[in-house]
Amino acid sequence: MNYRHIYHAGNFADVLKHAVLARLVLYMQGKDKAFRVLDTHAGIGLYDLSSEEAQKTGEWRDGIGRLLDGDLPAPVADILAPYLKAVQDLNPQGGLTWYPGSPKLARLLFRPQDRLSAMELHPDDYETLHRLFDGDFQSRITRLDGWLSLGAHLPPKEKRGIVLVDPPFEIEGEYERLVEGLEKAVRRFSGGVYCLWYPLKKNAPVAAFHKALKETGIPKMLCAELSVKSDRETTGLTGSGLIVVNPPYTLKQELDVLLPFLKERLAQDRFASARAFWLAGEAKAS
Ligand code: SAM
Repeated sequence: MNYRHIYHAGNFADVLKHAVLARLVLYMQGKDKAFRVLDTHAGIGLYDLSSEEAQKTGEWRDGIGRLLDGDLPAPVADILAPYLKAVQDLNPQGGLTWYPGSPKLARLLFRPQDRLSAMELHPDDYETLHRLFDGDFQSRITRLDGWLSLGAHLPPKEKRGIVLVDPPFEIEGEYERLVEGLEKAVRRFSGGVYCLWYPLKKNAPVAAFHKALKETGIPKMLCAELSVKSDRETTGLTGSGLIVVNPPYTLKQELDVLLPFLKERLAQDRFASARAFWLAGEAKAS
């Protein structure tokens, strides 16, 4: 387990993932009834962007840094409001030192009745995350393989929930594992809202991944992808994608506003691109 999210916190991929996660939380809060967020690969929850690690890559500068640098058009500001408010609340003196990871972001947006279950397998990162949520009765932090939690922790007792699956993609076969994990989870909890993260990079098997997802027969799946640069001259991350199963009915329209803006604001070269489309279901409405 070599992956440490501190090197990447707040980068362009986090911006898309966290902006969408915030929309999903807000949508669940359209009803009074409690819900749970299951975060299968949670990270440390709170990132110090002034730390040596974050400064070393400086990835956040081309992600959340750019987003906060300059005005936002009104419709985009509305969509990003819950996400950006959470970031700003962590930095009450202004500036940008602290950045919320997915469990902290969800937790900052919670009402008293909402709950978090977060899995983190790395021993040090688990300790850090556990300390962050120490004494918080709305959150349960577990050192467990996140893939197992898709069986063990579903369905949630609230019967309403968001499941974020955000693996580090440091070993072969993660795209396949995502599909298998999702199938297993949906068999146990078909009404859940699922958000799966995946990387875009040179030769990534994205077409095969989408095909395998379609073949699961899961009826409603929305895909959002943002590439910030060409993949011709690098083997590193050039973009990222999200699959949202059972998305809120408003999400596609929101992505149609948000993605073109993010493409412009976060572009690193002229090959930046973005798209949102239905992988399954709702095709006629797209
Ligand atoms: N979801 C976080 C966020 O958005 O702030 C970032 C998570 S990071 C991409 C992936 C995390 O998964 C790392 O902290 C890594 O230690 C952890 N991890 C790796 N394999 C895992 C596993 N099998 N189960 C749970 N966590 C795992």
